Amino acid sequence: QKAEWAKLVNEKTMTVDGEHVELAANIGTPEDLVGVMNNGGEGIGLYRTEFLYMGRDQLPTEDEQFEAYKKVLEGMEGKPVVVRTLDIGGDKELPYLQLPEEMNPFLGFRAIRLCLEEQEIFRTQLRALLRASIFGNLKIMFPMIATLDEFRQAKAMLAEEKEALVSAGEKVSEDIEVGIMVEIPSTAIQAELFAKEVDFFSIGTNDLIQYTMAADRMNERVSYLYQPYNPAILRLVKMVIDASHREGKWTGMCGEMAGDELAIPLLLGMGLDEFSMSATSILQARSQIRGLKKSDMAALAEEALQMGTAEEVVQAVKEKLSFIT
Ligand code: PEP
Ligand code: MG
Repeated sequence: QKAEWAKLVNEKTMTVDGEHVELAANIGTPEDLVGVMNNGGEGIGLYRTEFLYMGRDQLPTEDEQFEAYKKVLEGMEGKPVVVRTLDIGGDKELPYLQLPEEMNPFLGFRAIRLCLEEQEIFRTQLRALLRASIFGNLKIMFPMIATLDEFRQAKAMLAEEKEALVSAGEKVSEDIEVGIMVEIPSTAIQAELFAKEVDFFSIGTNDLIQYTMAADRMNERVSYLYQPYNPAILRLVKMVIDASHREGKWTGMCGEMAGDELAIPLLLGMGLDEFSMSATSILQARSQIRGLKKSDMAALAEEALQMGTAEEVVQAVKEKLSFIT
């Protein structure tokens, strides 16, 4: 099977009925690019920049960040690279950033919330990204957006930093897409409004599931509630995809669910445009998608959305797949 998958490295990800979707990779460092290339990644759907900040005793400088972003953009040779701005807090701590302990870290001061307040940290990263933008196809993505206001603030800071760089004679790309992660139910519910202002969405199901089900993604005792196939999750995903398409925007997914064999048929059917997963899952996903008919999967997804439980959804997907393979 692995040998069959390997033949697909340079193939497009086309469904039986000729629809293309993009299979991208999640990476943490520039060193991960080798794996992306070897596994036929069509882009980077999530570059988790936290690793630049972790395992050290001070913040990375603007130049250190610039070098890392440039390396990734050049390495991808013009293919899309979605860089997520700093998502620290929650389960990820920085020893040199003394933050007060919180009762509920996952509901606390993390990601964009921290960046909008600790502006120098955020603006340094934005400048590094803007300067690197001329070396490839950069898309910037903000994590943990809960309100339109947060997105507008982040976008305004990006615009300010861009203007300052341009005035200082720096070259900055003119077509950087700016999008958000959908990890919080409020944002999925308001996707229609966000879609008018963002260039793209990327659904972060790892967090979206924990916030929708109110079940800590690290807590074993409530892990039975961590249900990717729960129709409530599927409905949120569908709302986001539909809202983006109505505004001519695209939606990707960079949570674990995007590389899941049982979820892929449903996501394809709901019209997801980009699937971002660990590089080692890409060829298997490509092989699977090349055997599926999008119109059939759309019908399957339509049924799943009306179901009551995750079990029913899993059952229906398995049944459908058993007819195909
Ligand atoms: C997510 O929440 O789905 C996601 C991709 O972000 P992280 O796993 O880094 O929180
Ligand atoms: Mg997340």
